[in-house]
Amino acid sequence: MEIAYSFDYEDVIDAEKAYDLFWSGAITDKKNFQCPSPGCSAQLTCANIDKPRYAMKKRPYFTTKDKHNCDYVEKCEKSVGVGAEDVGRRAGYIDSQVDTFLFERPKRKAQGNGSKTDLEDKDREIKKRKYFEQDNKPARNGEYNTIKPLVSKFEICKAEEQLDKHYLNIAGYKIPYSQMFVNIDGLDLSTICKYDRIYFGEATVFKVPKKNNDFVVRFAEKIIGERKAYFPTIYIADSIIQKHCWRHVWGNMLNELADSRERTIFYIYSKPKINGKEQEYVNLQITNLNHLDYRIIEDYN
Ligand SMILES: [Zn+2]
Repeated sequence: MEIAYSFDYEDVIDAEKAYDLFWSGAITDKKNFQCPSPGCSAQLTCANIDKPRYAMKKRPYFTTKDKHNCDYVEKCEKSVGVGAEDVGRRAGYIDSQVDTFLFERPKRKAQGNGSKTDLEDKDREIKKRKYFEQDNKPARNGEYNTIKPLVSKFEICKAEEQLDKHYLNIAGYKIPYSQMFVNIDGLDLSTICKYDRIYFGEATVFKVPKKNNDFVVRFAEKIIGERKAYFPTIYIADSIIQKHCWRHVWGNMLNELADSRERTIFYIYSKPKINGKEQEYVNLQITNLNHLDYRIIEDYN
């Protein structure tokens, strides 16, 4: 299933939104979902929600422990004629033409007040309203706090040559994916946008010597400056990692990357800047790990 009711977020959301909420810390329990049909109370789990993207064979999706039947399941099966798990996985997510990148952390909406019966009644009401709202405007704009869903969508749109047809809304500005994502390879510093963009390129992770928990991401391709070319870097201080709700997960992932030296594409929402006393390096500053993501390059040989 593509959509579900989230008790924690009090909305009917798709699996990409659930993934984003999980990784930005707004929700922490992958089982706290329910079938979106107002008449059905089957419990749903968001599969893959806790996995980094490269470790997934399938995109995140909602599933039930035991097969269940209701009007929503029937509707899904009728519309495509495949298993409910595959229905609409692309539709809601990819067809949305404008995604919104938010800067404020989404809040967990559910408060633990009131008796259990009150909460259930309240949830039932909200679910019903949101479910029918969604029926009326099927292409809801995705609103995300991490760049993870944006990177996934970028990869699909790139493969389908649709980068000019999808947009990102950032602080009220509509920017096509083709301009939002900037390849580091051969980039000329004099031509970069004054606002932050999502820069990407192949990179390797290193542990910083004598600073146990700091990491440096070093890009494999050069950015061209006025006087010389630079291999840009991202410095991830331990303090940045400690600020994040998934500090242990991020710490482990970076350690693994540093040990394995696997070929990886890094994505960062930032801006390259010349730094150092002698202007000897270029780095992309990071303030929040929600603005960073990576994909392991799969070797088919
Ligand atoms: Zn159901």
